[in-house]
Amino acid sequence: MKTFDNYINGEWVAGASTLPNINPSDTSDVIGMYAQADEAQALAAIAAARAAFPGWMGATPQQRFDVLDAVGSEILARKDEIGRMLSREEGKTLPEGIGETVRAAMIFKFFAGEALRVGGEVVPSVRPGVGVEVFRQPIGVVGLIAPWNFPIAIPAWKIAPALAFGNCVVFKPAELVPASSWAIAEIISRTALPKGVFNLVMGPGRSVGNAFVNSPDVDAISFTGSVATGRRIIASCAARGAKVQCEMGGKNPLVVIDDADLGVAVNAAVQSAYFSTGQRCTASSRVIVTEGIHDRFVAAVIDKIKTLKVDNALTAGTDIGPVVDETQLAGNLKYVGIAAQEGGTVFGGERLERSAKGFYQQPALITNTTAAMTINREEVFGPVASVVRVKDYAEALHMANDTEFGLSSGICTTSLKYATHFKQQAQAGMVMVNLPTAGVDYHVPFGGRKGSSYGPREQGTYAREFYTTVKTAYTFAG
Ligand code: NAD
Repeated sequence: MKTFDNYINGEWVAGASTLPNINPSDTSDVIGMYAQADEAQALAAIAAARAAFPGWMGATPQQRFDVLDAVGSEILARKDEIGRMLSREEGKTLPEGIGETVRAAMIFKFFAGEALRVGGEVVPSVRPGVGVEVFRQPIGVVGLIAPWNFPIAIPAWKIAPALAFGNCVVFKPAELVPASSWAIAEIISRTALPKGVFNLVMGPGRSVGNAFVNSPDVDAISFTGSVATGRRIIASCAARGAKVQCEMGGKNPLVVIDDADLGVAVNAAVQSAYFSTGQRCTASSRVIVTEGIHDRFVAAVIDKIKTLKVDNALTAGTDIGPVVDETQLAGNLKYVGIAAQEGGTVFGGERLERSAKGFYQQPALITNTTAAMTINREEVFGPVASVVRVKDYAEALHMANDTEFGLSSGICTTSLKYATHFKQQAQAGMVMVNLPTAGVDYHVPFGGRKGSSYGPREQGTYAREFYTTVKTAYTFAG
């Protein structure tokens, strides 16, 4: 069994221990043994990044462009191989795994371009003879912490802007999906990036992640993951004055109005609730439907679910792969049970057996729910969606916003009036009209409001707000 090491200060180094990377479609398939760093190794990576910072801060935009463009090109050229490995370790279907890999490549290429576009401003001073320049500089060493559900896209959308703007990186992927991140590190190791600028530190959150969050040598933390972990990280960073950005959970509403195109609405709901096994922070988990279309919509969604093939992620024709692991599946089943106990009508949601032992679950649609039920308040993060019947658009909008989260939000309607009003009034960072709530472009800002997000946006040109700090320089010309 091959062992995959950490990459620290330009060297491949064994961890304090190793962890098997298990295929959720077939638990007899172990992808490899992956290094698990301890706190001492995390601190060594931070020290290497600190030492490399003055050099990388002074690198030319061309040097940064060349590294990022080379990484993007290689990921793109190897999209089928890397995408397959991603699907093998995380359980999303092969087309989804390849699609995510292409997206990661495009993110590296986008930020290669951003490295060339870091400009500034020259501003006339209010004082005679004085010139003012406003320009951006890197923050320093950034600690990047990723979740398991987008094993290559989320690492890419943190690593690429960090390097593009001249920061040094200590990066920790999620324990469940180290292979995609290891592939990025291996590609980076063959570029001209100076040693210590990028460090891959695989290992547990409580030791490695915690070391990043609390080290005075880490200037900023970018985290994506659960609300519970994110809140702790925000508090720790605030206590020591470190810059922090957190993207966390969601309970994303999809509103379906009487005048919606039924086909468009069913497609938007099924796509965003169940594809990628519902394990997307932008997944629609609450479908809020006005009473004139409710029964037709529910019947059509159930008909569609019956046609979905839940099977091995790597098998051609699979629509929905397995849940990522036993713990996550147990949590999904628990939420389906609570929904039934609280009065919901459950279609699907049961554990499925397939030819190989894995973590398969039939997509669940829970109807006859009310806003107060647990299923409409807490994030499940699996192929489970609920339906709430409402009287009209006004009640639908109120219910869509009645949540502590605010990541993505959607409406299906043919009315320009409702679409325009919803885009303005939805309390979410992203709003979709006649589209799934999940599925976004890579070159525009991504993030939410309320309990879903904290700090500046990720992706697109907005990523520079987090990965740079602004300096204002005054010069007296005499
Ligand atoms: P998680 O919070 O359990 O783990 C995320 C990462 O944090 C992992 O790498 C983990 O090892 C690390 N970690 C755990 N404890 C830590 C600590 N004390 N200090 C530092 N790091 C620590 O989340 P998860 O289960 O991997 O991911 C699922 C969650 O991620 C869901 O809630 C989902 O909504 C969210 N998510 C959000 C977005 C978004 O952009 N808003 C995107 C994807 C996933």
